[in-house]
Amino acid sequence: MKTLLRKNDVVLAIAGRSRGKQGKVLELQRNSGRAVVEGLQMIKRHTKKSQLHPQGAIVEKEGTIALSNLMLFCPTCQKGVRLGIKRDGGKRTRFCRKCKHEFDK
Ligand SMILES: [Zn+2]
Repeated sequence: MKTLLRKNDVVLAIAGRSRGKQGKVLELQRNSGRAVVEGLQMIKRHTKKSQLHPQGAIVEKEGTIALSNLMLFCPTCQKGVRLGIKRDGGKRTRFCRKCKHEFDK
């Protein structure tokens, strides 16, 4: 799965359960075409009983979200945007197609 997104990017969910929310990419799973995004697509997990939680506990954690449901969030446009790629010598710089904001400076 090809994606222009990278770890630590701030993305916006444009579809699915987390639609309209934004967060930071914690993990990219290129093989499955999904990502883990901070605060998005929360799922409830039941933990086993432990010393800390003798009764067990329900914790919320991030589930994965399809990359096709995510767009990079442009701080200038204040919305999810399409990306272009500029080659500058050997370096690839991603930019917002709307306002030309460069993300990789
Ligand atoms: Zn922009």
